[in-house]
Order: sequence, then structure tokens, then C-alpha cells
Amino acid sequence: MESQVDNYKDLLSSIGVDVEKHSKMMKAGFQGYKEQFMSQENRPKGMEYFDWFMSEIQGERVAEINRLREQKKPAVGTFCIFVPEEIVVGAGGACYGLCGGSQATIADAESELPRNICPLIKSAHGFKLQRTCGYTQSSDFIYGETTCEAKKKTWEILDTHHPVHVMNIPHMKREKDLKLWKEEIVDFKEHIESVIERKISVDEIKKGIHIINAKRNAMQRIDALRGLNPDVVPISGRDGLLISQMSFLDDPTRFTQKVNELADELEKRVADGVSVVEKDTPRLMVLGTPFAPPNWKLHISVEESKGIIINEESCIGHRYYKDNVDLDESDDEDSLMTKLMERYSEVDCACFTPNTPRIDKILEMYKERKADGVIYYTLSFCHTYNVEAHLVTTALEKEGIPCLVIESDYSTEDVGQIKTRVEAFLESLTFKKKAQKFKGLK
Ligand code: SF4
Ligand code: SF4
Repeated sequence: MESQVDNYKDLLSSIGVDVEKHSKMMKAGFQGYKEQFMSQENRPKGMEYFDWFMSEIQGERVAEINRLREQKKPAVGTFCIFVPEEIVVGAGGACYGLCGGSQATIADAESELPRNICPLIKSAHGFKLQRTCGYTQSSDFIYGETTCEAKKKTWEILDTHHPVHVMNIPHMKREKDLKLWKEEIVDFKEHIESVIERKISVDEIKKGIHIINAKRNAMQRIDALRGLNPDVVPISGRDGLLISQMSFLDDPTRFTQKVNELADELEKRVADGVSVVEKDTPRLMVLGTPFAPPNWKLHISVEESKGIIINEESCIGHRYYKDNVDLDESDDEDSLMTKLMERYSEVDCACFTPNTPRIDKILEMYKERKADGVIYYTLSFCHTYNVEAHLVTTALEKEGIPCLVIESDYSTEDVGQIKTRVEAFLESLTFKKKAQKFKGLK
């Protein structure tokens, strides 16, 4: 299997992609994917669909989005899980995450942005400057939000290259903040209506909610299968992460069907005791900032060091799919907007103060999954997650939960150092597990 990007040169060129640079980048990326993902032993058969999707990630999927645009359906690019994708999908369009996980675009971004801000923002900005993301080039507009300082100032610069519509996300959750939030969701809907030049109906919004709820349900199934069976882990952590990453790009209905098929296979694996790791392999949760593809270095480091990641408490992970929109008794637009606001305000991003529900959730998940330790992972210069690390690690310490804190960017320079720290951490967990077993505690 190879990257299919060259079959779409005409389309990509017509939307302004720098096809030569893009083709080189995609082919190198797919080669890395083949080496790190497709070479895994004992991989579930259901992952073949995701291999196909990866080969078409900047090909057929970009073509699908552009076919929707030809039919005057909305195409909205995002960088955050606060965007109510239900409204876009309900209107028949596509709402997707934009490229922002690669080191290859950062040098270009630094021609306009400071060096010392989060790599996710720089990478995403660089993809626009280089014109090497088919999704960015396909979007009617990028939906930005005011979650962190670096992002909200970057939108003003990005807007000089591509239309950006900004959502004002409050940083507290008091009644007056939630009122503002609901108004911002209404504003988002109206902005889409202005792009597609028609009203979006109540039935369309409800349909969008059903589609996205079904997607989240499917992802919750995978999450439970990854983490809730202490003796059997039916899928690797890197494949679990990949599924979350692809949930931001794929057509949601097709994705849901494929994820449910995979979940059926994993259920059978659990029943048959088919695990991708040996019994007693240390099981880790990862907490913190999002893992935009192809940022796989932490997962690969852990799994090459004989540990397994069973859950990401991250926006590309559990934080994205943990809550559904409650549709009961919502028959008019105003109550649907309220339901969307209620669902999105459950997101426990570190941009909020206070953010104690996040800590409660981490402890609850850790206990449910009988994990052996956690890695608190932050992207460099992400102040909210970096500062919140103190509160989280203090709570973990009180519960006696082993934790390793890692701050990193997208470069490969620290791979060796991360691996050394991960190996030492896993060794200490293995020792602890053996000691507990000896004492009959686990
Ligand atoms: S960490 Fe916060 S700002 Fe970043 S994607 Fe998640 S919700 Fe959005
Ligand atoms: S990881 Fe942190 S700094 Fe980077 S965009 Fe998200 S919230 Fe902002």
C-alpha cells in the first residue's frame, strides 16, 4: 500500500496546494506510518480500514470534501474540540481538524510567529503558509477559539491568509459565562448559514447531533475495550490514538460503522483472551495536551519500551468523546442550542479556572481502568496544561499514583531522552507490580 496523493494532483492544485512539496511530505509521512503502524504484530484486522484511510488522507477524503463544497455544503476547519460539529454535519457538510502535528512546517511559521509558543499552533500556521494541508485549503473558513493566548492572537495573523471566524470561549463556567457561550454557538450557526446562503433547520441540527452522538458512542466502546480488561489489551495504544486522530478527519457515518466493526472484533479478542501485550505489561494512561497526527512519539516510545497506553485523557482522546448531547425533549432551535452549550461546557480543558472536574475525572478513570501509572504530557509553551500539571500531580501523589511528567515538542531531538525516562518509569512500575503480587495485593 502506498500514499495515493499523486492521483489527486489536479484537484489539489486547483485548491491552491503546493503539490510538489505536499506530495513529498505525504509520501514520507506514509512511509513512517507503514514502519510504525503497519509493521505491528497481531494487529486487529479492522485496522486495515484505517491503513486505507491513511493512504487516502490527503487524497480521496479531500476530494469528498470538495464534492460537498460543490453542492454548497459547508466545509469548516478547526483546531479545537469546542466547535459544535453537529451543526456543520447536520447541514450536510464536513467539519474536520486541520494539520498541526508536524515539525516540517514550523520553520516557515516562525517567519510570522514567535519561536517560543506551542508547536501545535506554529505547525498549523506553517501548513497554511506552505500550502501543504489539503484540508486547510478546502475549508470555507477556519473556526478559531479564544482558549489560549497564543491561539487567539495567531487567528488575527492567520486571517490575513485564510478566513477565520473566532468563537469567544469563556474561561469560567458561571451562569453569565454559559449565557455568552450559548450566544457564540448561535453565532457559529448563523455564520455557517451566511456561507451556504440558507437557513439550517431544526431537523438538520437534530440529525447532526444523532450522527455525532453515534460517533462518540463507537469511540467510547473502543476506549472501554482498551482499558477495562486488566488481563487483555486487544489493541495497541498507538492504534487507539490513531482512531481518535482519524475521528477528526473521516466522514462521521462511515467512521462510526468502521469503528463499530473494529469494536466487535476487539470484543471477540477480549472474550478469547487475545492481547497485543504480555500479561503484567505496565498499563498507562496519558494526560494532557492533544496529539495531532503525526505526533506519535510518546506512544511509540512507551510501546517500544514494553509498556502499553490504554487511554488518552486528551482532546484527541477521551475528552473529545466522553460526553454526548442530550436530545430528550429538544424540539425547537433554542433548546437545541442550550443542549449543545451544556454538552460543550462539560469539556474540562485547562483553559478554565477552576478546573477541578478534570482532576476528579482523571482519578475516576484511573481507578476504573486499574492502570499502573500515568504520563502527564504537555506540549512546550502550553501554559495552561503546564501550570495545571502541579494541581493534577499533587492530586495523583495524594492517591499514591505513579506519574511521569514529560514536556515535548514535535522535533525528534528528545526522542532518546524520552525513551530513557519512559524505560526507567516502566521499570519502577514493573518492580512495584511484582512487589504487590508478592504481597498478594494485585
Ligand atoms: S486542549 Fe483546550 S484548547 Fe486545546 S483542543 Fe482541547 S479544548 Fe481546545
Ligand atoms: S496545546 Fe495549549 S498552547 Fe497549544 S493550542 Fe492547545 S491550549 Fe494552546
